[in-house]
Amino acid sequence: GPLAELDAAVTGCRACPRLVAWREEVAVTKRAAFAGQEYWARPVPGFGAADAALAVVGLAPSAHGANRTGRMFTGDPSGDFLFRVLHEVGLASQPTSTGRCDGLTLRGTRLVSPVRCAPPGNKPTPAERDTCRHWLADELALLRPTLRAVVVLGAFGWQALLPVLAAAGWPVPAPRPAFAHGADVRLGGLRLFGCYHVSPRNVQTRRVSHAMVGDVFTAAAAAAGL
Ligand code: SF4
Repeated sequence: GPLAELDAAVTGCRACPRLVAWREEVAVTKRAAFAGQEYWARPVPGFGAADAALAVVGLAPSAHGANRTGRMFTGDPSGDFLFRVLHEVGLASQPTSTGRCDGLTLRGTRLVSPVRCAPPGNKPTPAERDTCRHWLADELALLRPTLRAVVVLGAFGWQALLPVLAAAGWPVPAPRPAFAHGADVRLGGLRLFGCYHVSPRNVQTRRVSHAMVGDVFTAAAAAAGL
């Protein structure tokens, strides 16, 4: 279908020279624990249901996580945290996500990223965010017939997403609603939930806990009718 075509198209993108260089460089140098593995080293497409009612918007692939495995949030501590929560609230078929052939399926849920290539230091530039925006816009346009709720993990994703929604005609108020953990914004038929990113730093500093993220996903799943 059209979403599979979009997934195939995005994996060939080379629009951001700095990110193309980085995603390919780390695939050569590798991390010792993954020395025997072949890295994906390309843009990472969305993962999950093509008729998703819930979208989860992250930040960007990590160098040795999704940039290695080729699947959103797969193979790093953020993903380990996220998939455990998704499984607990009934949105993931298993609590772990280790690679593209592990049999994991998501129920009514799709994981997307505003930037599709691993950035150095997990920090894309504003220009890279803007260059990648059209892929997010295209993906959300294809999900629009079924999409009812979005969980945004962190302020970067929130700031990347709102212009996309506004441009697509969702009723985004001005001034734009601010990101906060627990933010719950209604945009016509779409509910937007803010959640701190499940990054190792946020988890280690206890800014975000398992229960906090579980609460957001429980509310979002209900809002999405899942
Ligand atoms: Fe293309 Fe996005 Fe990767 Fe830039 S970050 S090269 S726009 S897929």
